[in-house]
Amino acid sequence: MQITRVETFLAPPRWMFVRVETDTGLVGWGEPVVEGRAEPVRAAVEVLAEYLLGRDPSRIEDHWQVMTKGGFYRGGPVLSSAVAGLDQALWDIKGKEYGVPVHQLLGGPVRERVRAYSWIGGDEPAEIRDALTAQIEAGFTAVKMNGCGPMTPVATRAEIRDCLRRAETAREVLGDERDFGLDFHGRVSPANARRLLPLLAEHAPMFVEEPVLPDYPHSLPDLVNASNIPLALGERLFTRQEFLAPLQAGVAILQPDISHAGGISELRRIAALAETYGAQLAPHCPLGPISLAASLQVAFTTPNFLIQEQSIGIHYNQDAELLDYVIDPAPFRFQGGSLARTDRPGLGITVDEPAVRAADKKGHTWRNPVWRHADGSFAEW
Ligand SMILES: [Mg+2]
Repeated sequence: MQITRVETFLAPPRWMFVRVETDTGLVGWGEPVVEGRAEPVRAAVEVLAEYLLGRDPSRIEDHWQVMTKGGFYRGGPVLSSAVAGLDQALWDIKGKEYGVPVHQLLGGPVRERVRAYSWIGGDEPAEIRDALTAQIEAGFTAVKMNGCGPMTPVATRAEIRDCLRRAETAREVLGDERDFGLDFHGRVSPANARRLLPLLAEHAPMFVEEPVLPDYPHSLPDLVNASNIPLALGERLFTRQEFLAPLQAGVAILQPDISHAGGISELRRIAALAETYGAQLAPHCPLGPISLAASLQVAFTTPNFLIQEQSIGIHYNQDAELLDYVIDPAPFRFQGGSLARTDRPGLGITVDEPAVRAADKKGHTWRNPVWRHADGSFAEW
């Protein structure tokens, strides 16, 4: 078998898909994207495709090695995401070739369903309450929300209280049987995180996510010891090497994104590394259907998997939704907040190719907002 064509498609709201075709007619799909940087990733995919064209798609590991290490200058989110999407497509082809889902090729299932959480929007406590109630009614057993808006580097008491009130409201509405994750989103300085974590502990969040920006890995041991809350991070880390220091610092939950961190191949290795520290995998995935499908394949076969992020109904999804790009929504039908394992081949979904081609004609130019503090200076989003 030979790879004969590699095409990319920009798909609203902010995604990109890659289609890898072979001379046998088998086609694989992947989702290579960095939110807000889709065009550079597209260019990176085109450069990598020069290497892949004419080659055997079954040599996934060898292609992964060449794509990540074959250039003298390596790494970074753009290249790593381009590799990630292509890796997903190659696994999709391999699964379809053998007529089995990818998780069977990775060692077989270790679970029959994958627990997922939903995002809630709403920055006002009253809105949080309604949004939480809606997710409970939809059957979810866990939600995630931002812990704060823009936060000044040394927070006022009001800013601290606002964060605590969100957590208090979440616990009150969810009760003791359900979970919530609180995402600091890199908005919280190391000093503020040190102050907030012990105060949040009484509300027992499932985890606090990105307690600080990845720029401050040296603050992680202190933050791990600041409270009993499990810390989670990893959506802005791209290789197993980058996850080692957080694990050594005591971070409990790794959140690599299968469309950023080298695809199915590297996510499996990050999970295995986490296992040696007793840490759990909770993949980041505010993206589209191919990314979620690939994540689920890893979740079905990974012992130390905790919970899956997914984007249905997320506040970023305007103009288009995850289900717009698949023929049959069944693999994404939630039951009690979980997705059931299926034996469909490859990534387990059928991409709606006409819908994807039509979406690319429209394209998108999604960029994340630029926030400012009250004095006009730059604020982390
Ligand atoms: Mg996050």
